Amino acid sequence: MLRLDPFRVERPATVDEALALLAAHGGRSKVLAGGTDLLPNLKHGLYQPEVVVSIGAVAGLRGVKDAGDALEIGALTTLLDLEHDPLVARFAPGLARAAAEVAGPQLRRMGTLGGNLCLDTRCLYFNQSHFWREALGYCLKKDGTACHVVADGKKCVAAASNDTATMLLALDAEVELRSSSGSRRVLLDAFYVPDGVRNTVLQHGELLTSVLVPKGSPARREGYAKLRHRKSIDFPLLSVAVRLDLEGAAPGTVKGARLVVSALQARPNRVPVDALVGKPLDEATVTELGRLAYARCHPMTNIADDPAWRREMVPVLVRRAVADASHA
Ligand SMILES: Cc1cc2nc3c(=O)[nH]c(=O)nc-3n(C[C@H](O)[C@H](O)[C@H](O)COP(=O)(O)OP(=O)(O)OC[C@H]3O[C@@H](n4cnc5c(N)ncnc54)[C@H](O)[C@@H]3O)c2cc1C
Ligand code: SF4
Repeated sequence: MLRLDPFRVERPATVDEALALLAAHGGRSKVLAGGTDLLPNLKHGLYQPEVVVSIGAVAGLRGVKDAGDALEIGALTTLLDLEHDPLVARFAPGLARAAAEVAGPQLRRMGTLGGNLCLDTRCLYFNQSHFWREALGYCLKKDGTACHVVADGKKCVAAASNDTATMLLALDAEVELRSSSGSRRVLLDAFYVPDGVRNTVLQHGELLTSVLVPKGSPARREGYAKLRHRKSIDFPLLSVAVRLDLEGAAPGTVKGARLVVSALQARPNRVPVDALVGKPLDEATVTELGRLAYARCHPMTNIADDPAWRREMVPVLVRRAVADASHA
C-alpha cells in the first residue's frame, strides 16, 4: 500500500488567506484543488511539501461568467461543470468536449480546471512508486542525474498531458495569476515552457485564479480528438485541438486557424498553419493540416506505446478533430 508522508493541511476561506499562506511557505507548500493528481503524486513521493494549501473552500473561484468578449472561468470550476455549462456550450464548445475527455466521471466531478491547467508533466519513468524509481536510479526530474528517455539528455521531456490545455491554447485563452504582491494575465501559449521539470511560468506563491476564453461565434469551429487506451479513464497518448475561423458558404473558406498537438513533450505543440488561410475547407486542406502536424510532431518513449505508431496517428487525429469541429 502507498502511504502519504506527513504534512500540515491549511484550509483558507478566501483568496487573500490562500495567497498569504503560499507567500509564507513558498516552495515548501503545494496547492491542492480537487486533489485527483496531487494525491497520487504525493503517495508516489514525487513531492515532499511541509504544508498543503487546500483551496477547495475558497470563495469566488468557482463558476463561468459572461465577461463581454470573453468567458471568465473560475479555477475551481470542475471539469464536470464545464462539460455541462450552457455558456461554455454556446461560446467555447471545444472546451466542453475536451473537459469531457479527461479521466473518468468520478475524477471529473472532483478535478478542476485550474488543477488541469497546472497538471504536472508525466513520464513512464517518473509516475511510479518511490521503490520503482529508486531501483532505476531516479531521473533528472527528481533525485537523479540521467534521463531514461533521451540518452545523455540534459533536459526533462516529460509530457504535458492535460486535455483542456490543448484546446484552450487553440482558443487563445489567458490565465489570471495572483500572488500576495499582485496579479498578472498570461496568454496560455506563454504560460507553458518546454521544461518537463516545471513546465509553467507559475511562481511559488502564485495561484491560478481564473481563465479567460475569447468568445466564439458560429463562424468559429472547435474540435478535439484524443488517443488513449481506455476511453473510460486514460491520460492521452496524443491529443489534438483545432480551431477554424471560417467565412463564406459551406464548407467555408479558412479565415484563421489554430492547430495544437499535445502529449508529446513538456508543453503543448502549436503547429503553424497560417499557410492554409484563404483555402477552402476541403479534403486537400484537411490532408495538408495533417501533413503539417506530422512534420512537427515527434512522439518519444516518455509515454507508453510505440512512438512510431503514435506519430502515424497524428494525421488521423487531426482529421478526427476537424470532423469534430465540422459536426459542432
Ligand atoms: C486515473 C487518472 C486518470 C486521469 N486521466 C486524465 C486525463 O485523461 N486527462 C487529464 O488531463 N488529466 C487526467 N488525470 C489527472 C487529473 O484528474 C486532472 O488533470 C484534473 O483536472 C486535475 O485537477 P485537480 O483539481 O484534481 O488538481 P490537483 O490534483 O488538486 O492539482 C494538480 C496540480 O495543480 C496544482 N494546482 C491545482 N490548482 C491550482 C491553482 N488554482 N493554482 C495553482 N496551482 C494549482 C496543484 O498544486 C498540483 O500540482 C487523471 C488522473 C487520474 C488519477
Ligand atoms: S523525460 Fe527523462 S528526466 Fe523527465 S521524467 Fe522522464 S526520464 Fe525523467
